[in-house]
Amino acid sequence: MSLAARTSGASGGDDGTSAGRARSVIFFVSDGMGPGYVTMTREAGLCASSTLGSLTPHLVGLCETRSANSMVTDSAAGATAYATGFRTDNHVIGEVPIRDFGVGAPASYRPAGTVLEGAQLAGKRTGIVTTTRVTHATPAAFSSHLADRDDENEIAREQVYSLELNVLFGGGRRHFDPSSVAGSARADALDLIADARREGYALVTNATSMRRAAREAAAEAARSPGGGGGGYASPRAAASSRPRLLGLFAPSHMPYEIDRAEGDVETPTLAEMTGAALEALAPSEAGFFLLVEAGRIDHAGHANDAATAAREVCAYDAAWAVALEFADRHPDVLVVGSSDHDTGGLSVGCCDRYAMDGDALRRQKFSAEYVAYAIIDAYGAARTNGEDIDAQGPAILAAAFAAAGRDVDAAESRITAEALAALHEMAKAASDPANGAGGTHGYEGWALQNAVGEALSAASSVGWTSHGHTGVDVAVFARGPGAEAFRGYSRNDEVGRAVIDALGVDPAAGLEAFEQRMALKNRASPPPSQTPG
Ligand SMILES: [Zn+2]
Repeated sequence: MSLAARTSGASGGDDGTSAGRARSVIFFVSDGMGPGYVTMTREAGLCASSTLGSLTPHLVGLCETRSANSMVTDSAAGATAYATGFRTDNHVIGEVPIRDFGVGAPASYRPAGTVLEGAQLAGKRTGIVTTTRVTHATPAAFSSHLADRDDENEIAREQVYSLELNVLFGGGRRHFDPSSVAGSARADALDLIADARREGYALVTNATSMRRAAREAAAEAARSPGGGGGGYASPRAAASSRPRLLGLFAPSHMPYEIDRAEGDVETPTLAEMTGAALEALAPSEAGFFLLVEAGRIDHAGHANDAATAAREVCAYDAAWAVALEFADRHPDVLVVGSSDHDTGGLSVGCCDRYAMDGDALRRQKFSAEYVAYAIIDAYGAARTNGEDIDAQGPAILAAAFAAAGRDVDAAESRITAEALAALHEMAKAASDPANGAGGTHGYEGWALQNAVGEALSAASSVGWTSHGHTGVDVAVFARGPGAEAFRGYSRNDEVGRAVIDALGVDPAAGLEAFEQRMALKNRASPPPSQTPG
């Protein structure tokens, strides 16, 4: 469909009530949340709303999650299908394959426009909210174009320079600070925080400043007639789009819900970030597109950490409650939620037992990530003090598990002597300075954290088949104008196209604007990889 046709179609739906068209879209991605997670969390009764009451009434369909090159997708390809309406290969962000003829021919990739870029070109405000680093695969697929999801420094550069985002909230500050700043993950002197400020962003780093900035943005928009839409007519005019809020709340991923200290009000929850984003985006007369990712359900799944995953699902449900409350007041808003894939192959009941122990899930106090770090720290301290680690190890492990709500000696914990012996060996290796281990924030494939997750989950009879992703279909939730399009079975790329169609925007034209701005920026200051010498 041409841009003109889309545009005229969009204006036909300006009352926001015509079938199939929405002025604004809130698109939720619950990363890794296969169907088992919903059942587990509901049955465990962990959430404030006892039955996932915000999410489950809006179940409309199932989504096939495969990528262009695999039955089992990763988050990069999964999110690209939602962002662009096209399937791509695993590991690829906002780009689609150009295949040569012939078996085994290597693929190259070309950028594909995203719904967010199309929305921006249509004069809508745009926002991204996530609990992972903002440069992680899912948010990246909506806001950058790279064949390699791991190049998060370049993703951050594209996010700051090439998009006129009104809201970008999450973790990942380490990719924005220059290499001279302690904890930076950058290899260059690029100061993207300073550059973002020059681009008109206000930086917020805690819940209080986030709320204040969102309130001010709403008040400013109320004062300026026309609502101060976030769109632009040309790359140059784009600089005037307001508001622009950059919220970076953690060096890497934001903390798990289960690990938040009582009274930690300075780290915003997913629901709080969603509420602030909506406050800043709402005054736009042209509408908005907001991506909200519950990104750490997947991480808990990788670690096979059932209780931590369930708490993340509760946080996701709470964010839906905020979105629904907003949609009640703005009937032209379509709310859609899907998952990019299942993680871990979670089963409710395992190991020949016809039961799940929700009590064991409720008793768990910390994530496997937290417990693994506590173990490494304690092993490290014992080493420093010259203690006999083989003698001290079992007591250290028992104490770490006890703090998390598991008695390693109790039968109901189902933690075997073999599992404890393996944990001890892994903890020794992970705390050994000779291995350079212990200092990284890794969840992927980290043996100790995965083993801790398995041990913590054993008591609940929640089962797992993998530390990776699986290819089962995932649930789709939708409510508002255009929700019908998501009913029944859909492919993931069809879900992406349905969102684009519901908004009536043109991602391909949006990509052209993105590329023009990037070209201008690269002429002014080439990316580090292109800098001579
Ligand atoms: Zn994953």
